Amino acid sequence: MSRRILVTAALPYANGHIHLGHLVEYIQTDIWVRFQKLRGNTCRYFCADDTHGTAIMIRARQENRSEEELIAEMKEAHLADFTGFQIEFDNYGSTNSPENLEACKIIWKALRAAGLVSEKDVTQLFDPEAGTFLADRFVKGTCPKCGAVDQYGDNCEKCGATYSPGELIDPVSTLTGAKPEERTASHLFVNIEKLHDFLEEWTQSGEHLQKEVANYLKGHFLGEPLRDWDISRPAPYFGFEIPDAPGHYWYVWFDAPIGYIGSTWQWCKENNEGLSKYWQSSDTEIHHFIGKDITYFHTLFWPAMLKVAGFNLPTKVHIHGFLNVDGGKMSKSRGTFIMARTYLNHLDPACLRYYFA
Ligand SMILES: [Zn+2]
Repeated sequence: MSRRILVTAALPYANGHIHLGHLVEYIQTDIWVRFQKLRGNTCRYFCADDTHGTAIMIRARQENRSEEELIAEMKEAHLADFTGFQIEFDNYGSTNSPENLEACKIIWKALRAAGLVSEKDVTQLFDPEAGTFLADRFVKGTCPKCGAVDQYGDNCEKCGATYSPGELIDPVSTLTGAKPEERTASHLFVNIEKLHDFLEEWTQSGEHLQKEVANYLKGHFLGEPLRDWDISRPAPYFGFEIPDAPGHYWYVWFDAPIGYIGSTWQWCKENNEGLSKYWQSSDTEIHHFIGKDITYFHTLFWPAMLKVAGFNLPTKVHIHGFLNVDGGKMSKSRGTFIMARTYLNHLDPACLRYYFA
């Protein structure tokens, strides 16, 4: 019997170009999708640019143009790279689309109705030079748990710990290099602890996640009460303003995974199909392919949001490691960092496809 399969790869951030590390995922997922299509299954491969957040806002400001202009140019560049590597998406959308905004509203309304949203004051790092609060990824410093230097504000690549940027030792803004100062503003939170039992069961059932991933979640998160999830940012921020909370914007990690639904919806509109056939039908399998660095967004927050809003839960979240070059991370300073475009200018894309396959 033919299966109906919806496949996604992680949404690349609009602030940077595609490199060979990204391509591990997009190429391997493309091969998986082609295999399913060859078997006669109905399989759709959806992706989009992840466009919101502080970094885009700051870069647009520095380049003296609108965020919309910047993200349109980056989307074109991303698509040219993907096309160059023969990656065939059924739809490639944007998180800054009307469809994504609609999908965000639906999920938000469901979270409100379930009584899961609350408001609290948050002290966050603020870049005095850029005049903006700093997203977790735009603060770097020393890991408070293991002492590794040069770690991001939300988690440590060395020991896997998660923490808030205020806990980092010797923090520096990656936007301006300034020393951030602490400021307080009101944020909205989702109380995902209320879904603890559901998440315990979903992650540990053995059906949706690799065993190592299930164990990681049990060891790092599910063994204690889940922390409230901070899902808003105060102005100025490039993103969607929350309809029932003026001056608050959805945090980029709220609307990024919803971008999978937004991109599907765009495709549905163009192909006269209903969204519910893909996201609210037990006949559809949903397969996400992601890198290990974004595991907890996709295996805790994402299923929680889908569950509350009555959407399909992921059938499987397939999680891969990073591409190493000469046994280490790709590095600009060591000259081992290779852009997709650089490769395409010199070599046949089929060789890399074959190698990753
Ligand atoms: Zn650490």
